[in-house]
Amino acid sequence: MTTLDQLKEIYNLPLTTLILRAQEVHHRHQDPAGVQLCTLKSIKTGKCSEDCKYCPQSAHNDTGLEPEKLLDTERVMFDARRAKADGATRFCMGAAWRKVYTNSQFENILETVSSVKALDLEVCCTLGMLDVNQARALKDAGCDVYNHNIDSSREFYSKIITTRTYDDRLNTIKNVREAGMEVCCGGILGMGESVDDRLKMLLELANMDPQPDSVPINALVAVKGTPLEDQPFVDSIEFVRTIATARIAMPYSIVRLSAGRSQMSEEMHALCYLAGANSIFLGDRLLTTENPRQHEDRKLLDKLGLHDMHPDKAREIHARSKAQSESCGCESASAESAVVVEAGKAAEPVLS
Ligand code: SF4
Repeated sequence: MTTLDQLKEIYNLPLTTLILRAQEVHHRHQDPAGVQLCTLKSIKTGKCSEDCKYCPQSAHNDTGLEPEKLLDTERVMFDARRAKADGATRFCMGAAWRKVYTNSQFENILETVSSVKALDLEVCCTLGMLDVNQARALKDAGCDVYNHNIDSSREFYSKIITTRTYDDRLNTIKNVREAGMEVCCGGILGMGESVDDRLKMLLELANMDPQPDSVPINALVAVKGTPLEDQPFVDSIEFVRTIATARIAMPYSIVRLSAGRSQMSEEMHALCYLAGANSIFLGDRLLTTENPRQHEDRKLLDKLGLHDMHPDKAREIHARSKAQSESCGCESASAESAVVVEAGKAAEPVLS
């Protein structure tokens, strides 16, 4: 088990040492220069009954967003084909729902999932809460991954969302695991939470067994008309420290830089990659908010000497490093991460 005190010690290391520790973990357990490219498409937009204070799609927030009904399979396939041609290896589909209902719309989604899977893309869905039977149906249709974020610490969560509980989130994640899909689970920084809240969120994720396969770290995009519209953009160094702490605590997870990248400089992106981030979303929009232009992302990756990472290559590296960890007595990713965290925390700089 990783503890909050361990994460605090890691987070507060001198930035130089923190980045070094994160890079050591990254080089051992990940493709050190690989970045997985994903695309996230909104397949049903707006009018969501949940009251997430950060979200432009909540019916509780007056953001002027134009709602859209569930898109049909052909419409989604157009974007999926384009995403693949642009180099994305994962296609994520998001619907602004509180929960999934087993009805004709869900049937449509299952058909869309199967069609996207046939393009030889990894398929991820984020559709709100779901039960284990719905999770199994998604898995059977070809869905590889389900995204469901815990957003923040348990304590801060109720200040941001009142229409569902933290345990509702954890329960859906349990159903996803039970159905055999991979879990994508992370949170948002810059909503007014403390550094402790961020570390408690990482602690919750790091102590899941198994740990999430991917961990999206979002920076709040303060959208006009939401209760968080006046929040300043998250401090860039705090953001980078959080990414590095996530990398050290979750050595095998893909850490995804998600929302808020349009407000990040090239230098902040570079620091995030140095801290252990190894995935981004390509495309001009991320659900309903702005995302960097694809050619800008490509240009920066080239400038930094980073390459597209195929998920199979990432899995191969993870399997190899897990086998090595097991041979040294760590049986699970969380046990391994506790060892890594301990090593990072205890590291002493060499003084000349
Ligand atoms: S559940 Fe998702 S779509 Fe609905 S308000 Fe919350 S973040 Fe937005």
